[in-house]
Amino acid sequence: MARLKREWRVALVRAYPDLFHPAGDPAAVQAFPDVGDGWRDLLERACARIRAAILADSGTFRATQIKEKYGTLRFYWDSGLSPMAASRAEEAIDLAEARSACTCEVCGEVGQLYGDGWLTTRCMAHAEKRSPVEVRPGFEILIKEWSVRDRRVIRCRRYDREADRFIEVDPTAFANEET
Ligand SMILES: [Zn+2]
Repeated sequence: MARLKREWRVALVRAYPDLFHPAGDPAAVQAFPDVGDGWRDLLERACARIRAAILADSGTFRATQIKEKYGTLRFYWDSGLSPMAASRAEEAIDLAEARSACTCEVCGEVGQLYGDGWLTTRCMAHAEKRSPVEVRPGFEILIKEWSVRDRRVIRCRRYDREADRFIEVDPTAFANEET
C-alpha cells in the first residue's frame, strides 16, 4: 500500500530526469517529493512548466527539496540558468506554492489552512475537526520583490485558483486597504 501511494512520485521523478538528480534511480533522488497525494496535480503542472522554461536554455536546473512546511509546498532548487529561464522557472514554482495554499494535501479539492498545533491545508472533509486559520484581509495577497538593474521592483498579486494564474493587484490600493 505504501509502495502504491508513492507510485506517482516515482513516475514523476522518472519523467523529469532534467529536473531531478541524480537521474536514473528514483530512490536516490535528492528532491524526492515528500508531500501528500492531493498535491500531485500541482507538482506535475510545476514540472511541466519548469521543463518548458528551461528547454531552450543551456543551463541546468536541480530540484533540491520538495516538501510541505507550515501547510504549504516548499520547492527548493538551484540552477545555472540564464536570468530569463530562471525567472520563468521561479514563476512556475510560485504558482505551485500558491496553489498548495488553497488545495487539500490529502485529496486535491479546494482547501484552506487549518491550525491547532500544526498547520495543514485541507478541505473540510479532511480537516479532522480542526479549526480553520482565519486569513486577515489583505494577507492573501502575495508580495513579490526583486531588483532589476539595481532598481527594486515590487509586485502585488493574488492567486486565481480557477485559472491557475496570478492576477496583479494595484499596490497602492493594497496600501489603502491596510490603513
Ligand atoms: Zn480533502
